[in-house]
Amino acid sequence: MSDSKSHIAHALCAQSASLFQRGLTGGSSGNISARLGDGRFLVTPTGMSLGALAPDDLSVLAADGTHIDGPAPTKEWPLHDAFYATRVQTGAVVHLHSTYATALSVLADVDAGNVLTPITPYAIMRLGKVALLPFFLPGDAAMGDAVRALAGKHAAVLLANHGPVVSSPTLAAAVDAMEEFEEAAKLLVLTNGMKRRLLTGAQVVALVARYNVEWDT
Ligand SMILES: [Zn+2]
Repeated sequence: MSDSKSHIAHALCAQSASLFQRGLTGGSSGNISARLGDGRFLVTPTGMSLGALAPDDLSVLAADGTHIDGPAPTKEWPLHDAFYATRVQTGAVVHLHSTYATALSVLADVDAGNVLTPITPYAIMRLGKVALLPFFLPGDAAMGDAVRALAGKHAAVLLANHGPVVSSPTLAAAVDAMEEFEEAAKLLVLTNGMKRRLLTGAQVVALVARYNVEWDT
């Protein structure tokens, strides 16, 4: 029963704790959601650390986003909702304030259409092109509008001066892709200002073809 509520709730809590314990998001920052087989959503609650969530701490939303059980959901739900609405394949969304991706989000010279400059293959394979979105006040529903304006063409975005957001068909894939996002951002920040050898256009094209990456945006 891979799509049962209990199974996904336990997995969501375990992934949240793992991300918190590894320092990928601190305080009460970060939020995760997953779509259940019946169309409802499980969402991490507002104002609670991801470090010690139990299944009963999760918010349950109806398929239309109405809060139907558990504590109030993250105030960044509109961000998640926009991915589910514009990318039908989305099964989970992860948003963190992880250090290196957030550091990348404050650099002035990133390519807004492809913020992860191609230096290693894995981020390309897991994330495709990552778009930079403007700065919004936390919880501003306009964040969701900005994701909707991308019309489903990006699985992941970087919120300027805020942090990364990743969507994937499954929770495990979303967490995996988020870890890849953070690692790629770490390499970019560590080598920022250095003379880098980038992957060539031909190498990127070959990667995109071999791994069937969403790349035309
Ligand atoms: Zn945030």
